[in-house]
Amino acid sequence: MAFDTVRRAATSLSGARPLPYWLDDPGRPTARPALAGDEVCDLLVVGGGYSGLWTALLAKERDPGREVVLIEAHEAGWAASGRNGGFCAASLTHGTANGLDRWPEEIAELEDLGRRNLDAIEEAVTRYGIDCAFERTGEIDVATRPHELAGLRDWHRRTGELGLAQPEFLDRDRMRAEVDSPVLLGGLWDRRGVALLHPAKLAWGLKRVCLGLGVRVYEHTPGLALARSGAGVAVRTPYGRVFARRAALGTNVFPSLVRRLRPFTVPVYDYALTTEPLSADRLASIGWRNRQGLGDSAHRFHYFRLSADNRILWGGYDAVYPFGGRTDPSLDQRPETFLKLAAHFFTYFPQLSGVRFTHAWGGAIDTCSRFSAFFTTAYGGRVAHAAGYTGLGVGATRFGAEVMLDLLAGERTERTALRMVRSRPLPFPPEPFAWAGIELTKRSLARADSHGGRRDLWLRAMDRMGLGFDS
Ligand SMILES: Cc1cc2nc3c(=O)[nH]c(=O)nc-3n(C[C@H](O)[C@H](O)[C@H](O)COP(=O)(O)OP(=O)(O)OC[C@H]3O[C@@H](n4cnc5c(N)ncnc54)[C@H](O)[C@@H]3O)c2cc1C
Repeated sequence: MAFDTVRRAATSLSGARPLPYWLDDPGRPTARPALAGDEVCDLLVVGGGYSGLWTALLAKERDPGREVVLIEAHEAGWAASGRNGGFCAASLTHGTANGLDRWPEEIAELEDLGRRNLDAIEEAVTRYGIDCAFERTGEIDVATRPHELAGLRDWHRRTGELGLAQPEFLDRDRMRAEVDSPVLLGGLWDRRGVALLHPAKLAWGLKRVCLGLGVRVYEHTPGLALARSGAGVAVRTPYGRVFARRAALGTNVFPSLVRRLRPFTVPVYDYALTTEPLSADRLASIGWRNRQGLGDSAHRFHYFRLSADNRILWGGYDAVYPFGGRTDPSLDQRPETFLKLAAHFFTYFPQLSGVRFTHAWGGAIDTCSRFSAFFTTAYGGRVAHAAGYTGLGVGATRFGAEVMLDLLAGERTERTALRMVRSRPLPFPPEPFAWAGIELTKRSLARADSHGGRRDLWLRAMDRMGLGFDS
């Protein structure tokens, strides 16, 4: 990067707080007290992110008499669920293209279930009065290089041929009429398939609803070990045990209480910035009246959107895998990535020169080798687990919660009949192979971005094995 570019990026970041913007909010609820002594319940939910909260909420909706306990190691919504981009997508498969590659015979059903899932989220947000700035404004996949534009045109044609929901193609002029950036060559606007929301407020709202429905929520209560107990299971915490007939694990990127599931996901750190609120003049200088979310169609992609108070959230690009698959709060800050992100921001929006960033943060994404969630049972069907959402779990975790409840009930439903639900991704190898494979893949993907999208031998071999890497 040129010296002036670095200096401008550094200046724009100089006042940024090292915190997720969404969590730095006076409305952050106080944590519920930790468990004190033993508990007995019908269903124990481990994890207070969207996965766990939707599971507890839907369990109560399905059967209000069921005794449900939720334990959370820290505070509900502090992890990925409180620090993501807030793109709440209908897709259950990390995008239609990924779903089509892996489950072509099910894609129409998967897309339909995904749309119904997003509708159900919107309906629950309204019904329970969850104030999370839900806006169903859609998302535009944008092209900044000619080969990306050709890829978008091709995808537009294919969705039409396959009878899938067809996004609207925007040529350069129409794209720039939506969002005026000199780097944007065109885009595909999916108007109904994505909503934007305030992620932490969704998590906090779900927690409030769970409490209202009678879920007993214990925060600062890590589950340390899981074992059979009579006809059910018991989870040990530092303060007592929870005995439950059934347990659902929504622990995402953190080590699963079922050890054999650990190699199926790796943590990949993703980073984001938010600007100060834009004045009306600054906002007018870039258009963006329709408030869609945007995402680059490159492998190393940026995602960006407006907040309710007209800040721009600007994230993505670097996807960092820490050797050994560590998750550690020290990894939430990465100044070299923040500088890079800020520099890219001003290339996209030169009109916003002088704008300051107020927050800079990162978080771990539970990446799996098929990019979309997988579902498992353990302990003879008494425990269900869902993870592997790979950066697209804001919406899909509600579907995952339904699947976990179906599995625990031993029911065959339209969800559990899916091959997508019954199959599993390939696990990651142990170190140093995981690190070496991921680094090699990242380098190849970066090369593909700058060489007209051409995939090298390594990526083609990975494609043949159905293996991938994404954030
Ligand atoms: C920076 C970033 C940006 C993202 N952007 C988007 C986006 O725009 N759109 C999108 O769809 N997805 C996005 N994602 C992904 C999305 O946030 C996740 O898929 C989703 O939040 C996963 O929810 P979860 O409940 O499974 O996980 P989490 O929110 O991580 O919750 C898991 C919880 O389990 C708790 N826990 C773990 N182990 C234990 C234990 N043993 N005992 C008790 N509690 C435990 C943790 O403390 C944590 O609170 C992003 C993620 C990140 C990090």
